[in-house]
Amino acid sequence: MNLLKECEGAKSIGISGHIRPDGDCVGACLSLYQYLTKCLPDAEVKVFLEKPADIFSELKGFDKIDSSFQQEPDFDVFFALDCTPDRLGDAEKYFAAAKKKINIDHHVTNSGCGDINYIFPKVGSTCELIYDLVEADKLDRDIAVAIYTGIIHDTGVFQYSNTTPDTLKKAAHLISFGFDFPRLIEETFYQKTYVQSQIAGRAMMESVRFLDGRCIVSVIDKKTMDFYGVDSHDFEGIVNQLRNIKGVDCAIFMYETNTLEYKVSLRSNEKVDVAKVVSYFGGGGHMRAAGCTMKGTFHDCVNNLSLHIEEQLC
Ligand code: 5GP
Ligand code: MN
Repeated sequence: MNLLKECEGAKSIGISGHIRPDGDCVGACLSLYQYLTKCLPDAEVKVFLEKPADIFSELKGFDKIDSSFQQEPDFDVFFALDCTPDRLGDAEKYFAAAKKKINIDHHVTNSGCGDINYIFPKVGSTCELIYDLVEADKLDRDIAVAIYTGIIHDTGVFQYSNTTPDTLKKAAHLISFGFDFPRLIEETFYQKTYVQSQIAGRAMMESVRFLDGRCIVSVIDKKTMDFYGVDSHDFEGIVNQLRNIKGVDCAIFMYETNTLEYKVSLRSNEKVDVAKVVSYFGGGGHMRAAGCTMKGTFHDCVNNLSLHIEEQLC
């Protein structure tokens, strides 16, 4: 796919990504936003996202993100990044009504819902796909920073098995633009606020192991969230911390979104395909990192997940 050709003649272009946007989603949206604004000065380019975490506020274009979704849906081209359109939240109406719909994603659970689909499940991040699509001579420092941010977030700073030689080659090229990548990694990936560390500590302390210690679950209810004054952004990294525990093959982190409703995050090693586990509950993601929303009591949710995890553990 040639991005600029696909957008040729378009007067209005929109970009969006999934609800509760993570580093890859924000990086992909803002790098594409910068690229199209730079290369297509005659087009009006808009980027819509649920308000991302403040840690991403240094990315160029962050202040241009529209989180009000007030605009009328009349785009010539609309991009859905890092997700299927049903996860676009309030931006789904823009995608549905667009004259040309383009879907760029790396989720194994996405079979492609656009007029044009650029979906590569083996690639570690949507930002890597944006890197592939951006013409090399148009890449600049600010675009490089946004793409790099997405890559480090979805690969766990090049630790996860979705890191390939290509990922590292792309990252090597990106840091050649000369930005402060150690600070970017520290401030967007590792650094936590005091309450974020407290809530992570609470989640660790109250975690419960089951299936002979091979599975671990922790839950944070609404009351506790209110007590600490935290929201979903503050839970980033907790499920990975649970998965890091010795002997654990599959980690589950849940937080209450409504009465009898939980957002569930799963992480695993090579023993469990968590994308398969969540597929029974309308979720999606990757083999080793996936999520879904579940209804019912905490125990019902865990029992239901446990059945599908156990099946794979034997
Ligand atoms: P996380 O656990 O960090 O929220 O998400 C892990 C992976 O699963 C991400 O790639 C994310 O996009 C995907 N994911 C999380 N929750 C859902 C969900 O409810 N539906 C779908 N389709 N994918 C999800
Ligand atoms: Mn991603």
